[in-house]
Amino acid sequence: MPISMRLRISFSSGLTRFMVGAVVRYILYLVSVVILSFGLNAKTTSLGQVPQWSALDIFQKTMSRSEFIHFLDTVYCPRPEWWSAWITIDQDRVRIRKVSGKDDWYDLYFSKDNNDSLMSVPPGNSSPDPEGMIIALDPGHIGGAWSKMERRHFSLNGDPPVKEGDLSLAVAQNLAPRIEALGATAVLVRKFSEPVTQQRHKDFREIAKQWAEEVAGTEDNNSQERELLIKDREELLFYRVDEIRARAELINQSIKPDLVICIHLNAAPWANPVQKELVERNDHHVLVNGCYLGGELAYDDQRVELIWRMVNRWHISEQGLAESLARSFSKNAGLVAFSYKGPNALKIGEVPGVWARNLLANRKYRCPVVFLEPYVANSLAVYPRIQNWLQGKRGGDECLIKEYASAVLLGLKNHFTP
Ligand SMILES: [Zn+2]
Repeated sequence: MPISMRLRISFSSGLTRFMVGAVVRYILYLVSVVILSFGLNAKTTSLGQVPQWSALDIFQKTMSRSEFIHFLDTVYCPRPEWWSAWITIDQDRVRIRKVSGKDDWYDLYFSKDNNDSLMSVPPGNSSPDPEGMIIALDPGHIGGAWSKMERRHFSLNGDPPVKEGDLSLAVAQNLAPRIEALGATAVLVRKFSEPVTQQRHKDFREIAKQWAEEVAGTEDNNSQERELLIKDREELLFYRVDEIRARAELINQSIKPDLVICIHLNAAPWANPVQKELVERNDHHVLVNGCYLGGELAYDDQRVELIWRMVNRWHISEQGLAESLARSFSKNAGLVAFSYKGPNALKIGEVPGVWARNLLANRKYRCPVVFLEPYVANSLAVYPRIQNWLQGKRGGDECLIKEYASAVLLGLKNHFTP
């Protein structure tokens, strides 16, 4: 066969394959759009399990209609357009769609009496004494050798790198004995800069490949971009999704705490990521669980988790403690309150700095959870203090770690003994 013909055939068969592939991909895309639009498929979040709706049975007739509407509106989902496809509020019950796209509903009946008084109880006043409580301290992220992968790592001018996971662990270690002195038991969810999960990113390679196929199609199997996409995904499934799920398992099955405190430090986006300069901004905020977005409510497991948290009324303890901690960060650590601008967070109560967001950790840990985000690590005020700590200047009044832990301790004390 003449070379030109071979080239033409090979080009034309390559082109045909490409066109057939493109058409098939487009048809698959259209089908997936139609399926997603009409919600014909059951949906669970990454590595999630099909939820057990019958677990809610014990909460039948424990919440009034007005309470349900109030909690949904002020904590869990403020926009009817986000929940109306999934939740129907009748006179005697609320109906929650069990499986995305199916006409299959869980009926949660309201209590007959209006327990409206429960809504007006000031959150801080119903707190038990810390004596005998089990408080789990969850140092955010992993730190150590994992900090770069989990993108909680930065370094400037050859200084020792800042790793959020190491700082959060140090705060938890400082805080634990001081909480025990109040008569509570403090348990660290992670004691080292190592993952809680036994899985590693390579264990998620197949799931990541499958995901990449869905989002990017089946072409360019060997492309560098595709490989990076798969690598990012398998890492994320490891350090963010499976790690938090493993912590949830440990908390829910073994530690069984009365309360979880998730310890984090915030960081601001760099104005110029190439030429990093410390920022002016330094602030705090404290998160409770809530503000489920429309796209999140499309997941079957997230709907049952919302209802589970609401009927347990965990948001009431969360708000009370979050407000006390936010006041402590303002007064004792001298931090102004951060305000969200977008729809992914909802302002809770009157105390500045307290917001609701739906995060995997504060959704999966089955008890009240407060999620702390004080200090901006890459700020002019905080960065030198982190460097001092990294260089071994620890324990004095100027120590950032000690100040953070002291603010949390004071917030806890004020909450339990208002
Ligand atoms: Zn964090």
